[in-house]
Amino acid sequence: MATVDVPLLEMGAPAEALVQAGDFLDAGVLAVDAALAVRGWNRWLEVATGWSAAEVVGRPLLDVFPALAGTRAEAAFRRALEGETVVLSHRFHEYLLPLPCDPAFPGYERMQQSARIAPLFSAGRPDGAVALVQDVTERVTMEAELRAALERAEGASLAKSEFMAAMSHELRTPLGAIIGYSDLLETEVIGPLSERQKEHMRRMKMGAWHLLGIIEEILTFSRLDAGREPVHAERVDPARIAADAVAMVEPQAQQKGLELRVHLPAQAPEISTDAGKLRQVLVNLLGNAVKFTDRGEVSLRMWSDPEVLYVEVSDTGPGIPPEYLERIFEPFTQVDSSHTRVKGGTGLGLPVSRRLARLLGGELEVASTVGQGSRFTVTHPVHPGEAA
Ligand code: ADP
Repeated sequence: MATVDVPLLEMGAPAEALVQAGDFLDAGVLAVDAALAVRGWNRWLEVATGWSAAEVVGRPLLDVFPALAGTRAEAAFRRALEGETVVLSHRFHEYLLPLPCDPAFPGYERMQQSARIAPLFSAGRPDGAVALVQDVTERVTMEAELRAALERAEGASLAKSEFMAAMSHELRTPLGAIIGYSDLLETEVIGPLSERQKEHMRRMKMGAWHLLGIIEEILTFSRLDAGREPVHAERVDPARIAADAVAMVEPQAQQKGLELRVHLPAQAPEISTDAGKLRQVLVNLLGNAVKFTDRGEVSLRMWSDPEVLYVEVSDTGPGIPPEYLERIFEPFTQVDSSHTRVKGGTGLGLPVSRRLARLLGGELEVASTVGQGSRFTVTHPVHPGEAA
């Protein structure tokens, strides 16, 4: 809507100037007198209607546009004649004047408009009205297209999440059978196994467990994406959760000769959280740190202020290039170098972790210097219901 402030516009020369100014503003300007007869009709309206000013000026407005009779548009003109300024925004009234629509926008029968109808004064009293009309058909069309595209994208994303959830579920069942029967064979109740067979069985099971882990991750991701992950909050000691997570990665760290440092506060504040989810985030971060670091150390540090609990997992690994610092939180993104490619993984760990951290009311951030290492920081509100 053009914001031409016309609080006390005089009938006569100033109104005439406004009628002409409309062409510069790319707006239609229509002036009427106190009897609702057309007094001003600018070039823009001539083009929009195909009627020249000479044909229209002097005729009653409702004769020029019979369709206006009894509509909000007529009411707006009448209110302006009583001294009120009326804005008919497109959102609530599609148009003021029944003007034809540009054929480039076949979705609309009439030109979509935003309009302002203001009084014209003569010796301090309302004595006419002027309407300023803008064509917003293109903007409205674009907005509708954008909305439709957004709905399609959201629909497609939901369909993808549902597909992933269904597929993961279907994979989990037979995998459970593989693990179950391997367990049974290992007990040797069915028959004795040679050492070689036992070793093969062990590897088979390791592979199956690994696959199951990936499937669980995909399932969690699709549930989070669809907003269907339930939170089971309870009062917990976060230092305990961190210690549990550290214990889970200790064997791999030891195997790689990495030092695992843990700094926990003497007295961490008790928090209300879903312990399983917080542990999963920390295990993911520690697991990545150990996976990508070949020399040096991995450390976990926890501290808090009155509102926020912080848990930082840092490593002396290869680091993450700046252009990847945000992208690694997008699903299926891995830093594109042979170094990280050979480490395996799904590229879902961090997206899942960030979504989980946010679900718990916190955040997950990263800072890194290539060649020096990475630092992931999880925040969590100390008091329930507070975003960190
Ligand atoms: P995944 O580890 O399964 O590939 P993630 O989402 O956990 O998936 O991580 C995405 C990518 O971010 C990894 O593939 C790796 O390139 C990079 N990355 C994550 N953590 C680290 C880290 N501690 N050091 C270096 N790179 C990392």
